[in-house]
Amino acid sequence: MKLKTISMRLRKKFNIKQNVAFDTQVESTSWKHNQWTTKTNLKNYSSQYVIFCTGSRDRNNPHLPKFKNESSFQGKIVHTQAWGDTQYKDKNVTIIGSGCTAITMAPSIIKEAKKVTLVQRSPAWIIDIDSQERSSRTYKTFEVLKDYLTSRFFKKSLRRKMIACDPYYNETTTPSYDFWDQRPASSLDQDYFRAVELNKVSVVREGVSNWEKKGIKLKSGKVINSDVVVMATGGNAQLLGGVDVFVDDQKVNINNTSWYRGMMFSGMPNLFAHAGYINFSWTARCEIVSQRICKTINYMNKNNYISCTPRYLGEETKPAIQANYILRAMNKFPNRTYKFYQNYVLEWIIFKIAKINDKALDFK
Ligand SMILES: Cc1cc2nc3c(=O)[nH]c(=O)nc-3n(C[C@H](O)[C@H](O)[C@H](O)COP(=O)(O)OP(=O)(O)OC[C@H]3O[C@@H](n4cnc5c(N)ncnc54)[C@H](O)[C@@H]3O)c2cc1C
Repeated sequence: MKLKTISMRLRKKFNIKQNVAFDTQVESTSWKHNQWTTKTNLKNYSSQYVIFCTGSRDRNNPHLPKFKNESSFQGKIVHTQAWGDTQYKDKNVTIIGSGCTAITMAPSIIKEAKKVTLVQRSPAWIIDIDSQERSSRTYKTFEVLKDYLTSRFFKKSLRRKMIACDPYYNETTTPSYDFWDQRPASSLDQDYFRAVELNKVSVVREGVSNWEKKGIKLKSGKVINSDVVVMATGGNAQLLGGVDVFVDDQKVNINNTSWYRGMMFSGMPNLFAHAGYINFSWTARCEIVSQRICKTINYMNKNNYISCTPRYLGEETKPAIQANYILRAMNKFPNRTYKFYQNYVLEWIIFKIAKINDKALDFK
């Protein structure tokens, strides 16, 4: 109800109904004669700048790992990205995955399902969120930043401390990566930990071998009988919402570009795109990138520039973002990243003080 009130207020304030084209699919955008023409399924738009806020995932193609003999399984297979009308009341549900989605879903689904089994290839760090916590936003931000910075500067000692202080972590439940190298999964009011402790949710840490008529067979040979198998296996990363980009009639292959400050691409003039953090709030970065975009446009207006294009810096193999859903899609990402740090505090400062004309951009 509160969300509805807020969205109504924002709708009025920003005149959203008039200013947003709803139910519109962007198909392509082309730069020619110093302007972009953006084609949608309904009409075309011309503009000097294009800003993509298309998120990070391919909405039509979730990540669905394939196991042998899928057609033999007689139950239902569903990906969390395409839930449809899946029913799980009184059913044996198996969830495959170890990330935020699996950890959130398991204790929730067991409220109605007959049995929930969580199959994980590798464990994740899980933090508990206290729903009664009432500290101020400023204090909470300070606390999160403090923990985040500790995790960046004292990786190994924090890891040791977490394992020593929390009885949940043992040989099988401790992740191979360090705390906050990826965004940790969350449990609300201990719901996940309690469901596991009370054996309501069984956790199996093993790879899947193949599908069987009645469920899935693990590498050890054990079969988990399932009516519904939920693939909480994540998405496939995608930049620019799958929109085709043309510059002077040439289709741009994003894999042949350099990624400037995680907000522009070489060879694409006046095109901005938001990308966030994988180990911190995604939207925190959207905010500082938006501010930087405004600064860039104001700088161009002030100096009578028409276009601004990042330079191509050549190939570099080390990916800037080490998350599975990105590593799986490296061929859809720029082949080099520069001036892009997965560190909110550092970027907040850099975005405030770094010059707009920082020699990595060509202004015309
Ligand atoms: C399970 C899960 C948990 C997450 N938890 C957090 C969290 O705790 N904190 C956090 O900060 N972030 C979290 N995220 C990341 C989250 O996705 C972002 O924070 C947030 O949704 C990003 O907002 P956005 O506007 O950039 O992208 P989105 O919310 O993904 O919006 C993109 C929009 O672009 C539209 N679009 C895409 N392509 C086209 C096209 N071709 N034509 C027209 N429209 C198009 C889509 O329809 C969509 O409306 C989580 C994500 C997932 C999947």
